[in-house]
Amino acid sequence: MVGGVPEQLALVEAFANTVDVEEGTDELTSVERFGRWLSAQGRDEPVAPADLDLAWQLRAALRLELSSHDTEAPAGEPTEVPGDHRAELDRLAEGLPLRARFTDGGVGLAPTAGGVPGLLAEIVAAMVLAERDGTWARLKICREDSCRWTYYDRSKNSSKCWCGASCGNRNKTRAYRQRRVVGSARA
Ligand SMILES: [Zn+2]
Repeated sequence: MVGGVPEQLALVEAFANTVDVEEGTDELTSVERFGRWLSAQGRDEPVAPADLDLAWQLRAALRLELSSHDTEAPAGEPTEVPGDHRAELDRLAEGLPLRARFTDGGVGLAPTAGGVPGLLAEIVAAMVLAERDGTWARLKICREDSCRWTYYDRSKNSSKCWCGASCGNRNKTRAYRQRRVVGSARA
């Protein structure tokens, strides 16, 4: 396990968090920057502009998928979840170098190429396997608008909606203030 996330989802989580809403940073803004992020993951892959484009598209669809794991988002909550992100993931997956592998060690999914497309194929493979073993729905995006950090929900009922106590508290304080404003307006 890496930082609370099952090992097979560590790369997916790290990739989803290449955008940091709170810090206002994004590792996918240039070929050089993406290359540096890959190096930091121990993946010294050459990056072409088309790779960056593909990574950007996959991350966008992935984050929509992860947002949809917050099944109890209150009505009116700003959401990144239009209905067609699954179709977009399906389209992207079709173009990735991925195949079923049968070896003495077991059966699985594996990239058939290296480079960035191979890495993205690995991410998609991890999504498929996590969906099968029931861990997928636990990888979520924090409901707090100013955070939107991807985290792994280890709670018993998979009922968390904030990445940590600070986001939860910030949200409760805000809700409390709003209630007070509404209350005093009525008074
Ligand atoms: Zn958060």
